[in-house]
Amino acid sequence: MKAEKENRERNFEEERRKMVELLRSYGIGEEVLEAMMHVKRHLFVPGHLRDQAYGDYPLPIGEGQTISAPHMVAMMCDYLELGKGEKVLEVGAGSGYHAAVIAEIIGEVGHVYSVERIQWLVDFSRENLKRAGYKHVTVTLGDGTLGLPKYAPYDKISVTCAAPDVPPPLLEQLRNGGKMVIPIGRYMQELYLVKKRNGVERERKCSVVFVPLVGRYGFH
Ligand code: SAH
Repeated sequence: MKAEKENRERNFEEERRKMVELLRSYGIGEEVLEAMMHVKRHLFVPGHLRDQAYGDYPLPIGEGQTISAPHMVAMMCDYLELGKGEKVLEVGAGSGYHAAVIAEIIGEVGHVYSVERIQWLVDFSRENLKRAGYKHVTVTLGDGTLGLPKYAPYDKISVTCAAPDVPPPLLEQLRNGGKMVIPIGRYMQELYLVKKRNGVERERKCSVVFVPLVGRYGFH
C-alpha cells in the first residue's frame, strides 16, 4: 500500500516536470516555472480527476466552476511580475491552486488574500491549501468585485473570472505602482494587464475563456 502511494507520488512528480517543460517552451519565466514545479496541482483537483491534474487544460471543480489551465495560471503570474514579500489580492479562489502558485512565488514574507463568492469553494480551497501546506494564503467569503478593503492597498491583483470592466474598488485598492491582471468580456474575452502609476494604463494581452465574475461590479 505504502509502495503504491510512493509510486503514484513519483508519477505525479514526473508529470509535473513534463507540464513545466511544456510551459518553458511557451516562454514562461524561470521563477514562475520553479513555483509550478513545487505546487502539487493534484491536491487541488477533485479526487476522481487526479490523474488528469497535470494536463494543460482547465478542469471542473464543482458548482459549475473550473480550475484554470496551467499555462493560463503561469501567464497571469508572469504578467504580474510578482516579487518576494508582496501583498496580493486574488478574486475567485476556486480550488486554491492559482493562489498557491502566487504564494510560492512571493514567499512566506508575502501574503495572498483570496475572495470567493461560493461557500463550498471557500471550504474546498481552504482545505486544499492547508493540505498543500500554504499558511500565507487567506480565503474569505464575499463579493470580490468590492475587493477586500481591510488589507488594502495591494501590490498586485489577480482576477480569475471574466468581468464586464475593471471594478472601480479594485483599482482603488491597488497601490500606486501596482499591477492587475483581469479578463474582460462576456463571450469574447481578452486578458488585460492594468498598471496604476499616477494614471491608469491598460494593455491587451490575449484572448481567453473564463467563467463570469458575478457580483456588484460584475455580471448579474
Ligand atoms: N483561481 C481559481 C479559478 C477559479 S474559477 C483556481 O485556481 O482554481 C473563478 C472563481 O471565481 C469561481 O470559483 C467563482 O465562484 C469565483 N467568482 C466569481 N465571481 C466572483 C466574485 N464576485 N467574487 C469572488 N469570487 C467570484
